[in-house]
Amino acid sequence: MNKLLYKTSLALSICLIAVCTACAQKSATETQAKEAAAKVKQNTGTPATATHLPKTTKKMEWNKLTKEEEDVIVRKGTEFPGTGKYDNFYEKGTYHCKRCDAALYSSDSKFDGHCGWPAFDDEIKGAVKRLPDADGQRTEIVCAHCGAHLGHVFEGEGFTAKDTRHCVNSISMVFVPAGKEKKS
Ligand SMILES: [Zn+2]
Repeated sequence: MNKLLYKTSLALSICLIAVCTACAQKSATETQAKEAAAKVKQNTGTPATATHLPKTTKKMEWNKLTKEEEDVIVRKGTEFPGTGKYDNFYEKGTYHCKRCDAALYSSDSKFDGHCGWPAFDDEIKGAVKRLPDADGQRTEIVCAHCGAHLGHVFEGEGFTAKDTRHCVNSISMVFVPAGKEKKS
């Protein structure tokens, strides 16, 4: 009888040790997994658009953006209609990318689209890239140099002879008056 009791308690002890070891191993594995995930997060803190950029683009040279600017330029948001700085603005000059300073539009292409956002019927050659929008219907426009989200482009509306409307968020651009262009 005593022998049986001894055997039973021995078996129980072994079980207990095994369970404890498994617990310890599990928590060690969990900690390792969490650490690895944190490392991955740190290394991939770049905007999603960065993967589509030309190799020559150096992120380090981009201008620092505010949260509001990032909402549009990085996260592809849209500013409220009629609130943009350049909506009703018709001075002579050039509109540049807020993030990388590339020249995007000339004031000569700007027209009043009555839509609440700055409208242009043409871009500076090669400065704007067109992409199918994630909504499956519209055409997104981005800065060809850094991939900054600008807005959308529409055709066939008949506003101007070029029959094209680049609907651009003011916050994505910086206006440089004629004659004050930086010499590069
Ligand atoms: Zn840019």
